[in-house]
Amino acid sequence: MENNTINPKNYTIEELKTYLAVHREKAYRASQIMHWVYHSKSMGRDDFINVPLSVRELLDEDLCSLTLVREQVSETDGTRKWAFATKDGHIIESVFMKYKHGNSICISSQAGCRMGCSFCASTLDGLSRNLTPAEMMDQILLGMEISESPISHVVIMGTGEPFDNYDNLQTFLLNATDEKGLGLSRRHITVSTCGILDQMNAFVEEFPQVGLAISLHAPNDDIRKKVMPIALRYSIADICTWSQKYFKVTGRRITYEYALIHGVNDSLACAAELARLFRGRNVHVNLIPLNEVDETGLKGSNRKVAETFLKVLDDAGVQATIRRELGSDISAACGQLRLDAMQESNG
Ligand code: SF4
Repeated sequence: MENNTINPKNYTIEELKTYLAVHREKAYRASQIMHWVYHSKSMGRDDFINVPLSVRELLDEDLCSLTLVREQVSETDGTRKWAFATKDGHIIESVFMKYKHGNSICISSQAGCRMGCSFCASTLDGLSRNLTPAEMMDQILLGMEISESPISHVVIMGTGEPFDNYDNLQTFLLNATDEKGLGLSRRHITVSTCGILDQMNAFVEEFPQVGLAISLHAPNDDIRKKVMPIALRYSIADICTWSQKYFKVTGRRITYEYALIHGVNDSLACAAELARLFRGRNVHVNLIPLNEVDETGLKGSNRKVAETFLKVLDDAGVQATIRRELGSDISAACGQLRLDAMQESNG
């Protein structure tokens, strides 16, 4: 029986109804299940007291897909980094941050990543596997439980390329924004991508209100090809044309992420080239001084270089900010906590 059970977090409410119908159960039980899963702290089917045993037995006994294996808590601003283990032993990382507008979590969409960006700790061992919708959701549900705080904003910017796992991303987003699911505002969710334009077309049609951030990390294709293999498939010109269409359809501006890497993309000439690219365009540039990852040999630019870069963009009228440093006392690079936890579990 157990082999035929499901974790409801891996299905939308419509799919749950179909599953119940196949088992000759009433469709309204799907809403009851959603209530227990997303609006109670319950992680076990046996807590669902108003759901009959015949329905509960269609669900996994343990509905929690992750276990906390490591935590770092910032003493300066309450930022928390969590390493979670999946049931089959993969380690993933999430970051909880406090902002004036509410609490936010950065979640992972894959265990590892196959995109091969040269500055990124998450891709060092390639892709292990896609995360399920339940594993994406449990980062938020467990995050709320561990921090004992509500979470109103979600960025899918942790380990993995979300559009390389589109079907699961889609189910996750539907459940995160469904009123019967987590009920988050679509406007409070941002998906960050290295720019897989073909997949992004479907996303814009289905989720026009969900925010989008594109990792650019270079002002021209030559530099981008050196740091991001995806640049071999899509040029910066392709991305800019796509972004203009996106703005026309959604009225939402794109955020471009730009990790400042010492000696690679942080020169005055790079800043001027980026300013020319975006002058007069309705975009936002998020400058991120890169955190050092020992294994990549790349270093982040210092604060002074970041500020000079910002000024060039400012002077050209391009909206830009330097990402606020949260949790500076636990400021390991993105993916570093995951690497540490993996090394520890491998002995
Ligand atoms: S930056 Fe993002 S897309 Fe690139 S390797 Fe890292 S996780 Fe993957």
